[in-house]
Amino acid sequence: MSFEYAPAPESRAVVSIKPKYGHFIGGKFVAGSKHFPTINPATEEVLSQIALAGKAEVDAAVKAARKAYTSTWSKMSGKERGKYLYRIARIMQERAREFAVLETLDNGKPIRESRDTDIPLAAAHFFYHAGWADKLEYAGLGTSPKPLGVAGQIIPWNFPLLMLAWKVAPALATGNTVVLKPAESTSLTALLFAEVCQQAELPAGVVNIVTGDGSTGALIVNHPDIDKIAFTGSTEVGKIIARAVAPTKKSVTLELGGKAANIVFEDAPIDETVEGIVNGIFFNQGHVCCAGSRLLLQENVAEEVLHKLKNRMEKIRVGDPMDKNTDVGAINSKEQLAKIIELAAAGDAEGAERWSPACNLPGKGFWFAPTIFTGVTQAHRIAREEIFGPVLSVLTFRTPQEAIEKANNTPFGLSAGIWSEKGSRTLWASQQLRAGVIWANTFNKFDPTSPFGGYKESGWGREGGRHGLSAYLKGVSHE
Ligand code: NDP
Repeated sequence: MSFEYAPAPESRAVVSIKPKYGHFIGGKFVAGSKHFPTINPATEEVLSQIALAGKAEVDAAVKAARKAYTSTWSKMSGKERGKYLYRIARIMQERAREFAVLETLDNGKPIRESRDTDIPLAAAHFFYHAGWADKLEYAGLGTSPKPLGVAGQIIPWNFPLLMLAWKVAPALATGNTVVLKPAESTSLTALLFAEVCQQAELPAGVVNIVTGDGSTGALIVNHPDIDKIAFTGSTEVGKIIARAVAPTKKSVTLELGGKAANIVFEDAPIDETVEGIVNGIFFNQGHVCCAGSRLLLQENVAEEVLHKLKNRMEKIRVGDPMDKNTDVGAINSKEQLAKIIELAAAGDAEGAERWSPACNLPGKGFWFAPTIFTGVTQAHRIAREEIFGPVLSVLTFRTPQEAIEKANNTPFGLSAGIWSEKGSRTLWASQQLRAGVIWANTFNKFDPTSPFGGYKESGWGREGGRHGLSAYLKGVSHE
């Protein structure tokens, strides 16, 4: 017997969205000259008009950040800096519901995820780094760690506030000031964060937020008075940035794409594994750089796993992201939906077999049903390219060695998953896999204490943990 869920919509009344926003420069909101709309991808409703920063605004933001760095922030003791970070973290917790609702409206992700994952983890990053601010000499990164200066930070649309926290918290804890650009389609929580900076009485210019598109990002990357670039996004743009900073003295960290293998060995606990597969690919609509998008099943358990996986997928609730019962929300943009549709069509054309559970997708907005492709081979585009949507490519293997070879047969190397009840097999496999993060009998677990980052085309450097601090300090090798 299955139960129908009554609608459980979160209230929109907790947020007040302004009709138009400016930039946050030198501790103040300043009016923008040009604007573009930001929409709710679940309804296509225009939420607000976002300012598009050009050279003048980026210059002003960098100038404000430089002034705050030389006059205030780099001179302040770690203990004092830490107090501001704690204050920001506590305000984020106090305003968590507001942040969660705004994130869901602007991004399309289910309120359950923004409420239980994005916002608590963003606050946790500030708490964690607040703790480091006065203890940097004990981090094993030199006896007198020094900040780099002004950091230019460019973030994507899949975890807007969380990616801001990953970038801003370590930069501030180590004594740097920042100029941050959120993604074009998801600027609203960054602008609410700017209000939090004002509320926390953070000295003017320590955090500057300029909104805009790729051209604004390029202005930040190429600005001569920026000391470090931190970027999360596509490998394509990551390569453009790497080329732009190569002839300069800028430090750089890049967190790019992935095509993670989620490997299920014959001795895996099957029911638990099925939950992990679902979480690995359908969490956040699959808009996750470390998503478990290639499922590698040992041949003798493949049928059982696929049968249980399909049963479980029948119960995934797709729809209104503001409903507390929703598991999978809207695709973030029309462009991203077009990309998912195109890659799924390539899966059909190349001979893989597509399956989705029956689901009623809303008429308006951008939607894609949770989908699996079986019969996928390593040559298929859906096995090689990042789809960045709720689409799982299933491959099989016979021996553990074959699993490792298939898993590593990718230009990426961000994450991987291992499902097995044998500790020795898990340890063996994790040593063979060329991926920065490896989960065993779980997937998509994040913690500010744990370094995150990739091998090969998945990026350079680590974010989070002690390793992440090193990326914002002078003369420390970036492990
Ligand atoms: P992008 O890499 O284009 O965007 C990431 C950020 O970089 C955004 O803030 C973007 O601005 C900015 N940007 C774009 N062009 C430049 C540039 N030349 N110089 C500096 N900054 C720039 O990702 P998309 O949003 O276009 O997504 C495309 C694909 O990338 C997705 O389909 C997915 O496969 C992958 N992706 C991977 C992510 C990851 O975490 N690994 C995250 C997001 C996307 P703006 O938003 O205004 O364009």
